[in-house]
Amino acid sequence: MIGVRKVRIHTFGCQMNVYDSEHMLCNLAPLGFQSTLSDEDADLIILNTCSVREKAAAKVFSLLGRLKRHKRSRPGVLLAVAGCVAQQEQEELARRVPYVDIVLGPDQVPSIAELVEQAERTGGQVVATRFLSDPDGLFSQGAALVGNRVSAFVTVMKGCNQFCSYCIVPYTRGRESSKPADAVESEVRALVDSGVREIFLLGQNVNRYGMDREGWPRFSDLLRRVSAIEGVARLRFTTSHPADCTDDLVCCFAELPNLAPYFHLPLQSGSDSVLARMNRRYDLNHYRGRIERLRAICPGIHLSTDLIVGFPGETDEEFEATLRAARDLEFGSAFSFKYSPRPGTKAALLADDVPDAVKAERLEKLQAVLYSGMARAMGAHVGRIEPVLVEGSSVRSTSPGQATGRTGTNYVVNFDVPGSVEEWRGRMVPVRITAALPHSLAGEPLT
Ligand code: SF4
Repeated sequence: MIGVRKVRIHTFGCQMNVYDSEHMLCNLAPLGFQSTLSDEDADLIILNTCSVREKAAAKVFSLLGRLKRHKRSRPGVLLAVAGCVAQQEQEELARRVPYVDIVLGPDQVPSIAELVEQAERTGGQVVATRFLSDPDGLFSQGAALVGNRVSAFVTVMKGCNQFCSYCIVPYTRGRESSKPADAVESEVRALVDSGVREIFLLGQNVNRYGMDREGWPRFSDLLRRVSAIEGVARLRFTTSHPADCTDDLVCCFAELPNLAPYFHLPLQSGSDSVLARMNRRYDLNHYRGRIERLRAICPGIHLSTDLIVGFPGETDEEFEATLRAARDLEFGSAFSFKYSPRPGTKAALLADDVPDAVKAERLEKLQAVLYSGMARAMGAHVGRIEPVLVEGSSVRSTSPGQATGRTGTNYVVNFDVPGSVEEWRGRMVPVRITAALPHSLAGEPLT
């Protein structure tokens, strides 16, 4: 009989890493591993890393530094680094951090159990960072049935062919590779059968789903298939690329009743010259056209975006164009960042010539505009009745009967419910929105 062991997974970065961490947990179960949130209790510690920004990669190395002492006091503990930092650094990471036992790239997630066994058997470092191009091998894992969840991620494709000049993803995740639609469908069915109500389809650029294979369905076809699965109460997806956002996809918002009115469309800059230097393949006019079309097809849709300030050579005028775009386009939410060069990308060859103080000042100005747009968008919900999918108890509440969930537009709503919150979990409840707070909405249920 296999004894129980504990695995602690630290997940950094995007939803695709969350998905990979869930699969690592499932793939390790046959070796007797159960999840823990404590490094002290763990027999295996995995850092599932992100290298998309300098800050994220720095966090990984700082945690590795802290874990060095832990490894010294408990030499039997295995330490693994997965994800994008592992893929980027490969053998170099093993050399630089000699107390790391396993270095595995994102494509090696299905092999985590064999890699752990190999490290235990040999007592040496194991480095596995090969890219796989066969979608069947890559996506043969099925659903990760971990815990009692209302919402689950499903990766539908991996990698990216776009090579935006600042972005490390094509180097750490490889070329675009789509998961067969039948595999997506059976994964969604297994999740729904386990009680999941909301499905979040993931890919670096889901708009290019199926384009890597002759005759495969397009992303809009896949959305239609998943939307039709009984039990999928709500469907979301991310991320889209403005140059690949087709009308067929936009029309799905009018056609599919369970497709949530939320669309994340990264703009990155409001300046056409910066967009060209970023190799984004669209200009502001094209982007504006997509947004107008989405708003015409789906009035009230929540549009969110990503913006970068301080890209190499960004002038005051170019930054002002971003600020103007943020004002005009009225995003419901946004992620905004200071540019940081990622080694190996085209932009890293350009002089990082916007001083950090200027980047910080620009970010502050931009975030003030974005924040007021978000406050207006949230304020517009007050008085409306919104369908809210209940996720569980509100963590911030002191009242035991306060539930939390999300609107279709993806804002958090907290509201009191009679009886046990557990009985409300997974239910789609009509909620009258009574107040917009800085980061959430408050409401009252109508059932
Ligand atoms: S589309 Fe551009 S920003 Fe997005 S993952 Fe691909 S290269 Fe990176």
